[in-house]
Amino acid sequence: MSSLTEKHLLTIVKKSGIGILILNQNYEIVIANQWFLKSSNLSEQDLENKLIFDAFPELVGTRTLKSIEQCIQFSQYSILTHTLNPYPFPLYENEQKMFKNERIYQYLHIIPISIEDESNSFCMIQISDVSQQVTREKLLREQMVIAKEREIDAKKASQAKTDFLASMSHEIRTPLNAILGMADTLAETNLSEEQVEYLTVLRNSGKALYNIINDILDLSRIESGKLEIESIEFSIRDLLKETISLFLMKAKAKGIRINYTVSENISETIKGDSTRIQQILINLIGNAMKFTENGSISVNASLSNSNKVLILDVEDTGIGIPNEKLHSIFESFTQVDSSTTRKYGGTGLGLTITKKLILMMKGEIFVESELGKGSKFSIHIPYERLVHRESNIHQHWLDLELPDPENFPKCKILLAEDSEENVFIIKTFLRKYPIELMIAKNGKDALEKFQNEKFDIILMDMQMPEMDGLEATTEIRNYEQKQNVDPLLMVPIIAISANVQKEAISKSFLAGITSYLSKPVKKLEILKLIYFYLAL
Ligand code: ADP
Repeated sequence: MSSLTEKHLLTIVKKSGIGILILNQNYEIVIANQWFLKSSNLSEQDLENKLIFDAFPELVGTRTLKSIEQCIQFSQYSILTHTLNPYPFPLYENEQKMFKNERIYQYLHIIPISIEDESNSFCMIQISDVSQQVTREKLLREQMVIAKEREIDAKKASQAKTDFLASMSHEIRTPLNAILGMADTLAETNLSEEQVEYLTVLRNSGKALYNIINDILDLSRIESGKLEIESIEFSIRDLLKETISLFLMKAKAKGIRINYTVSENISETIKGDSTRIQQILINLIGNAMKFTENGSISVNASLSNSNKVLILDVEDTGIGIPNEKLHSIFESFTQVDSSTTRKYGGTGLGLTITKKLILMMKGEIFVESELGKGSKFSIHIPYERLVHRESNIHQHWLDLELPDPENFPKCKILLAEDSEENVFIIKTFLRKYPIELMIAKNGKDALEKFQNEKFDIILMDMQMPEMDGLEATTEIRNYEQKQNVDPLLMVPIIAISANVQKEAISKSFLAGITSYLSKPVKKLEILKLIYFYLAL
């Protein structure tokens, strides 16, 4: 160190890679190094021995000058980052930037320098150029903001899509219910052969549209994470029997055999989501039926060797699927070839929903197929054996034998329903039976009518203006409680709703409804349920 002369030290300061400005106690600039001179485009003569506020008048009143004053008067050390220092020194990267007054971003150290054994002291200002870091930081921040905005937009869009689909499907389902209900009623009247044919087309198209809407709604519910998988006790034997029975007529008409087997080692009652398993089977058997012209369809339930996996196979002797398409058929809106829709109909959503449902159940789906010979879809889902049996697939009231209208018990029913078409459909369903039907056009009206008259049953539409079914049910139950009605004698309330989400159904039960019918209401279902309550 001792070998360094004053000249050496001065040269080191002058050639330093950062900006250095040294002031004495009188605010005079004693050194401005080369970096500073170059960046400010000033000469030594412009600066040296000048007062700092004369050399840079624009610094007056800024944080930079205040820090310099603190340094000279009180020997205070400060650091000014570019964010804390909105008025940095007029320093530029090049002439062009100087012309545009685009200053470099600066990081300032303002350092008091006292000299040993002397009363003299100095203020050293060190300036680093942090433009690159700032630009990078800014870019990162912008990217983060954009990413965040995109994330919010995507969330909003997905929510909007789900809401839109839910309300759209509800809006479409309501008039479609009316169409299907009226078509059913029309089928009961005297029709010519030609009219029966037209009506069949109308009913089939209506049902097809209904299925498409349900598929789209299901997919949007799965994708938005709103669909929950239940775990309830049910009988796989009953489930298969019921599901196969849905296809018996069609199989007979097509001349196809359809059968099912259940391995003996599967317990009577198992645990799982019976509704979704049935939906999966309906999709797979429906496809097998669609793509098989002759031969047979067989459905087999068995257990894996470990007894931990339930295997459901749906096998057909249909047209088969080419090897290279075996994976893509599980993608949305995908069919083996574009002629499929023309020839067989369908949306290409069935297998997508099926696969997603199986994954949600922590299961897997496999497919084997040979063109012209047939296909085999295998579902593997976790199996849990149960000893006691409590099946919910067969609701006992559905097994009831309905008496002829003249032997049906006389009763008075309140129907709370805002849609005139739905009122008309239910009226036509019940018209031959000795049922006195009163109509309430919303929940409020229903509550008033209930308080003034006695009804055997209430049919409650859940979506109504002014007061919806949920609120009306709660109010009716509150009223009954206040009147000290014996819980066993409380009026049965049958909810009728297009919303089949688990959450909506459990909310309705919590509010006090006794049964839940999903739209479109079927004539036999509603009559059997009414009969069930009357016969209690
Ligand atoms: P969709 O049947 O509504 O078109 P899916 O997602 O259920 O939609 O099926 C996708 C495609 O996979 C069908 O269009 C068909 O080409 C093919 N496929 C599905 N199941 C079978 C089957 N059992 N036999 C032959 N092809 C099938």
